[in-house]
Amino acid sequence: SEPDPAIELIKNRLSNVKYKILVLSGKGGVGKSTVTSLLGHGLAARDPDINVGILDADICGPSQPRVLGVRGEQVHYSGSGWSPVYVKDNLSLMSIGFLLGSPDDAVIWRGPKKNGMIKQFLSEVDWGDLDYLLIDTPPGTSDEHLSAVQYLSAAKLTGAVVVTTPQEVALLDVRKELQFCEKLGVKVLGVVENMSLFICPNCHSRSEIFPATTGGAQQMCAEMGVRLLGSMPLDPLLARCCDSGRDYLAQLPDSLAGKALHDIVNKI
Ligand code: ADP
Repeated sequence: SEPDPAIELIKNRLSNVKYKILVLSGKGGVGKSTVTSLLGHGLAARDPDINVGILDADICGPSQPRVLGVRGEQVHYSGSGWSPVYVKDNLSLMSIGFLLGSPDDAVIWRGPKKNGMIKQFLSEVDWGDLDYLLIDTPPGTSDEHLSAVQYLSAAKLTGAVVVTTPQEVALLDVRKELQFCEKLGVKVLGVVENMSLFICPNCHSRSEIFPATTGGAQQMCAEMGVRLLGSMPLDPLLARCCDSGRDYLAQLPDSLAGKALHDIVNKI
């Protein structure tokens, strides 16, 4: 078959991006978008000379504009491509959410159109020089992933971070995601276990939310030969920050979740 001309475009476009990292999850609601935004903030905070971009390709529910506090911003197309929105000097975002008239538009799009969109995203955003590009993808192992991975492989994808909850480990979705990576030759940089436990803000007692699966993520990682990057507790303040587009890491760096994130960022 004919080589896809988009591959060459994407390769060229991403040649100034040092590390290209997919953020994946087996299913929705496990905190994939939250973790992506926190990693973005964390990497950008490490050094003002580190440039970080986030590509929100979660066509099913693009949430980065809200989480990063730039909802309603306009993106512009110029001769050199789509300009991303700057969350701060060294953190930029391009989201499918910026291109949609209404948030409900997304769900009615069909597969081929979605693939076209991801292709366009990968080839037409003018990121400038980036150290890290984090790509927030839809949950699961759909066609969109396949095409994103194919295009990114051509542009030397660094690898994937897989986000899961203790419960998801028990439900096997995340194992499927890891097998998907293996099949496609995507290096798994590691697994982030999210919502691992809950610490009561009043009495500070620790509750394991899914007690039957405690330690499950660690065990699964050992079994599957991948690294557990860290475990993030459930923190109501984190949810509140994300809902209102505030930078949790800057506000609560010494919280349990803040410290866990700091460690995770340092491993990437
Ligand atoms: P996904 O991208 O996997 O669908 P989200 O990142 O949108 O999931 O997270 C789902 C919801 O859970 C959001 O409201 C988010 O704020 C909340 N959330 C995610 N991780 C945590 C956490 N560690 N503590 C508290 N709330 C969280």
